This record gives sequence, structure tokens and C-alpha cells, in this order.
Amino acid sequence: MSSFDYDLFVIGGGSGGVRAARIAAQHGARVGIAEEYRYGGTCVIRGCVPKKLFVYASHFAEEFEDASGFGWEVGERRFDWATLRDNKDREIARLEAIYRHNLETSGVAVFDTRAVLKRPQSVRLLAQNEAVTAQTILVATGGGPYVDEMLPGIEHTMTSNEVFHMDSFPRRVIVAGGGYIAVEFAGIFAGLGAETTLLYRGEEILRGFDDDVRSALHEEYEKKGIRVVCGEVLTEIEKTSAGLMGTIGDGKRLEADGILMAIGRRPNTAGLGLEAAGVHVNDKAAIVVDRYSKSNIDSIYAVGDVTDRVNLTPVAIREGHAFADTLFGGKPTAVDHRLVATAVFSRPEIGTIGLTEAEARQEYANIDVYKSRFRPMKHTLSGRDEQMMMKLIVDGETDKVVGCHIVGPDAGEMAQLLGIAIKMGARKADFDATIAVHPTAAEELVTMRQKWQRSTAG
Ligand code: FAD
Ligand code: NDP
Repeated sequence: MSSFDYDLFVIGGGSGGVRAARIAAQHGARVGIAEEYRYGGTCVIRGCVPKKLFVYASHFAEEFEDASGFGWEVGERRFDWATLRDNKDREIARLEAIYRHNLETSGVAVFDTRAVLKRPQSVRLLAQNEAVTAQTILVATGGGPYVDEMLPGIEHTMTSNEVFHMDSFPRRVIVAGGGYIAVEFAGIFAGLGAETTLLYRGEEILRGFDDDVRSALHEEYEKKGIRVVCGEVLTEIEKTSAGLMGTIGDGKRLEADGILMAIGRRPNTAGLGLEAAGVHVNDKAAIVVDRYSKSNIDSIYAVGDVTDRVNLTPVAIREGHAFADTLFGGKPTAVDHRLVATAVFSRPEIGTIGLTEAEARQEYANIDVYKSRFRPMKHTLSGRDEQMMMKLIVDGETDKVVGCHIVGPDAGEMAQLLGIAIKMGARKADFDATIAVHPTAAEELVTMRQKWQRSTAG
């Protein structure tokens, strides 16, 4: 019998921590877990899930408009924020209860408290004011929104934490940032009827994505009436009798009723006792781990956003599972972080996997690019001016598809399936040999024959 209270103690009940705790318990380990806010973590409580419910809500206005081309007459429309918010809250509470139940039925000891490291094999549970010992400790504390405390008037803004619980729906919104969260929420706000400005500091939104994806979404957002302002940041925010007033770099002022700051996230490592335990963090305050998620201290591991590797839910889950298999299942498993498919739930959606064209150019001597822009069939009758964009990037030497980028309805669903083929090393010839499913938008992926461009290094 071990002299420790637990074989494993997990700090953080989000995607990575819950998966690790449950799998370790299933492997026979004695496991405890502490969560300071709500079980389910960012993804379930204030991330992917409530966000996607809002995205669904944001589609209806256009669906109602599009219906008329198909002969439908839709009567008076009115959006009620409180109904959406409260129905979402009920669903999130249901999911949270499932998370807790699943932990308990797996035999995990569940604590509702903030926990901090005391020593390499000891954790302090603050609510209980007690310390527990564990042979292994897993830090899975995720991340939180970055708040620029130096920005005058920052107290009048909200982050993605608060946006899910707004008292009322703003008529005019400024969304600051140009990454996943900013782009998704600009689409949500605009779809639900807010006058929306997306304010991004760089040249083009969605840095890191393929350039054609970035420009395609920018164009579609402008068609929807979203004002996309690049090369600007908020320098001051004031409360006025009419709402809020944001000042941007050139002294120009923007009125709004709500301002969402979506300018990145930071790992939750502050005040966690990492120094006391001797755990190394990098210059972004993320815990440094090896391929098996082990920190520099043998008894301390970390998974998910707190390690700032690939900050996505399925990655945190995979890392948590691999950790539990490695330590308690007798199956050492390192997570492969290459070729992770991802979606941005903008309107239209983005689905992407693999290299961007610019990255492929750096990596390969010759690349072939296949690209298609077309009007989705639905819009022939709806009359909506919306284009779909698909792009395949192929290594000219081996014919391997090394990147695929889609902007259009269901792009995320397509990226999930393409992820299998591309991860298996599919060649363009395999795509060509696949018979299309007709009539779909995805058939374009297996019928693109005309090279858009061949680029040779040098
Ligand atoms: P988390 O899920 O953040 O869990 C960490 C948990 O630890 C939290 O519950 C926190 O309260 C708790 N905690 C922190 N410190 C302590 C402590 N000291 N003691 C006890 N508990 C503590 N990813 C996708 O793949 N798809 C999406 O569509 C998507 N949408 C997103 C939308 C938004 C608005 C946001 C913010 C994120 C989104 N993400 C999405 C990212 C995804 O939510 C994260 O990558 C994922 O939740 C990371 O899981 P995790 O286990 O590392 O951390
Ligand atoms: P991102 O890192 O995606 O984007 C942050 C944005 O803020 C960038 O446009 C960045 O600009 C900008 N920015 C950073 N610092 C400043 C500053 N000081 N002033 C002004 N702008 C600034 O972060 P998000 O917060 O949007 O999302 C965090 C992560 O969560 C994502 O990267 C993703 O991993 C995950 N996520 C995934 C989703 C999904 O899968 N659908 C949805 C939501 C989140 P620049 O590009 O110039 O650096």
C-alpha cells in the first residue's frame, strides 16, 4: 500500500484534467481532482460549447432571409437575448452535472476548491484548508483571457468569460482582436443583430491561417455588414451617457454599447505554487513539458492549455488520455501534435488542416496549389452573395496533400474527415480517384483538376 493519499491528484477539472482523472481511475489508480470554478472547464462552461450554441443562434437571421427565394414567407422576427442566454445556461448546467457524475462513477474523489502545489508530491486544497499527498500530480489548469490592465477604461470591457452572461444584448459592439475568439464573436454579434466592428492590430485578421482563408473571410464579413478595421488598437475607453466610447490609434472615436476584448489567452500558472515545487515555465508562463507531458520535476506532469502547445479541446483530451495510459495503463503514449485539423466557427465557417501555402513554400521545393471559389448551390435560389473557397496544397515531388483550407458552410465537418485522409498521407491522386458525392460542396475537393499554381523554390 502506497504511503500517499492518492496515486494521482489532478488540479483542474476541464477537458484535459477530467479525461486524465477518469482514465487513470479506470486503470486502477486512486485519483483525486480539484476544480475551483465549474467542472467541464473552459470548453464546456465558457468556451466551445456555449459558443457553438450562440453560433447556431446567429445563423437564423440569414436563414429567414434566404427562405424567401425558396417560396417561404417568414413573418415578423425578433431576437430575445435572455431566452438564448438562459436556455444555454440550462444546457451547460446539464453538461456540468454529467462531467461530475462521470468522475464520481469512475471512483475519482471530487473536490470543489482551488488547489495549489505545496511540494513536488503535495497539494493544498484551499477550501478544505488541508494538504493531500500524491505520488503524481497533474496540472491541468488551462488558461484565461489576457486583460491589458494598462488600457485606460479596461473596466468597461468584457472578455470571453463575461460575454456568455451579458445582462442585455448590445446594439453596437466593438470586438478587439483578430484571432479565433474575436472572429467567432464578431460573427455571432452581427448575426444576432448588433452593429459590429472587428478591430485588429495587424494587416489582416487570422494571422497564422492561409492567406486566401484570411482574405476570403474578411470579404464575407464585410458583405455581412461587419466593419473590419485593421491596423488599429483601442487606446482608451470611456463611459458616456450614450454607452461607451472607444478611441483608436489615430484619435478616431467609435461608439459602442459593448466592447469584447479577445486579444489572446495566458496559461493559468500564477499563484499555483510552481516555484515552491521547482517547476519550470517558459517566457509565456506555460509549463514546459516533454513528449509525455512530464515537467522538469519527475512527479509533476501538465496537460492542456497550461502547457501552451496546441490550445484546443481535443488536444487537451488526447494529452490527458495519453498521460493516464503512460503512467497508469502500462502503455507509454506520446501525443503527435502534427496535422491537427481545426475549425473557426465564423460565418461562413473555416475548416483547415496542415500547412498554409506560405508554410508549404518554405518546406517543399515544389508545391502545386488547387483552388476553387464558387457560389454554394443554396445561394442560387436564396440570392445571397456568398462564396465558398477550397484550397488543396500538394507537394509537387511526392503528390502528397500537405494542406487543405476551406471557407464555407460545414467547413469544420469537412476538415474533420479530411484530417483522416491527410494524416494517413493521402496523395492528390487518391483524392482524384475518389468518386464524388453529388450534389455536395465537398465534392469539389475530389474534382479539382486544374492547377491554380505551381511554385518552384528559387
Ligand atoms: P480548461 O478547460 O480551461 O480547464 C482548466 C480548469 O482548471 C478550469 O475549469 C479552471 O477553473 C480550473 N483551475 C484553474 N486553476 C485551478 C486551481 N488552481 N485549482 C483548481 N482548479 C483550477 N477549442 C476547440 O477545440 N474548439 C472550440 O470551438 C473552442 N472554442 C473556444 C471558445 C472560447 C470562447 C474559448 C475561451 C476557448 C475555446 N476553445 C476551443 C479552447 C478550449 O476551450 C481549450 O483549449 C480547452 O478548454 C483546454 O482544456 P484544459 O483542460 O487545458 O483547460
Ligand atoms: P488568438 O491567439 O487566436 O488571437 C489573439 C488575437 O489578439 C490575435 O489577433 C492577436 O494579434 C491579438 N492580440 C494579441 N495581443 C494583443 C494586444 N496587446 N493588443 C491588440 N491585439 C492583440 O487568441 P484567442 O483569444 O482568440 O483564442 C485563444 C485560443 O483558444 C486560440 O488560439 C485557440 O487555440 C483557442 N480557440 C479555439 C477555437 C476553435 O477551435 N474554434 C475558438 C476559440 C478559441 P496578432 O495575430 O497580431 O498577434
